[in-house]
Amino acid sequence: MIQDIGSKQYRCDFEKKYPKHDDILIYARGRDFLMKRTKEGYEFTTFADTYINELFDENGNITSEVWKGSVRSRYPHMGIYRTIAIDSQGYYIVDTDEIFKADGSLEYVGNEILRHYKPVYMSFGAATAAQIARWHEGNRYCGRCGGKMVPSDRERAMVCTKCQNMVFPKICPAVTISVIHEDRLLLVRNRNSAFKKYAQVAGYVEIGETFEDTVRREAYEETGLMLKNITYYKNQPWAMTDAHMIGFVAEVEGRPDIKVQREELLEARWFCADEIPPDIADRSLTYEMIRNFRDKYIKKTGESKRYKEFYNLFDIGT
Ligand SMILES: [Zn+2]
Repeated sequence: MIQDIGSKQYRCDFEKKYPKHDDILIYARGRDFLMKRTKEGYEFTTFADTYINELFDENGNITSEVWKGSVRSRYPHMGIYRTIAIDSQGYYIVDTDEIFKADGSLEYVGNEILRHYKPVYMSFGAATAAQIARWHEGNRYCGRCGGKMVPSDRERAMVCTKCQNMVFPKICPAVTISVIHEDRLLLVRNRNSAFKKYAQVAGYVEIGETFEDTVRREAYEETGLMLKNITYYKNQPWAMTDAHMIGFVAEVEGRPDIKVQREELLEARWFCADEIPPDIADRSLTYEMIRNFRDKYIKKTGESKRYKEFYNLFDIGT
């Protein structure tokens, strides 16, 4: 999955550090990232792509004096923050693109690239940094008194400069469910999401609910199905939608007749394992669960090619 970064170490401790020239610097505009076009495709931008690159020393470091002096005098209103690090490489966010060199190699690219970008750990780092950038941008003013909010010096929080109201990062818990009846898996296509391919029944946790309550409610609301044997599987941070996905497997209680909630879903249908393509993506928890179902139930005697019919409706490839 996207957060599985092998032997690399993910660091979200709150640490203030001056950047190195090869630290990642993310500028996101809406759902688009500013990226560097190369012969092979796109790369995330670093401080080397900025006008302040010349201020780093020969080892790629910058002193606090240079940062507070030259950089700040050049960009007095620029917001620039360290978010997370993977190993020793920091991921910074900046609130303007004016710091980047206008040399023609930089372009805005839709965030769908995060589903395919390699190496995967950088995709995870950039997605997480962009989640923090959206949270900063959405909390510039206090919801209680209207005062200006600034990032806390001590922890990951936005603090009101007038009333000291604190706002913590936006992380929305949501469940994704492998609803199984005998040897079939329920998959749906959402009407209102940008992602129109097959996915599992899913939804956000409401206030006051346990995760299992959410599983029962979402399955019933979207498909009219009652569930039993609800079992926790795994969880996953999913920065692209500020969510944290919690995966459950459950069986249908009673008849497997689907009543599709048309306001939410384009389609809901049962799949046999041999209707699911073998090479679907492995970055999301949902797709790992779909693949687990397929691998468990696929007949060893040879795969049907019936999935060809639906091939374009699965998130294929990594
Ligand atoms: Zn306030």
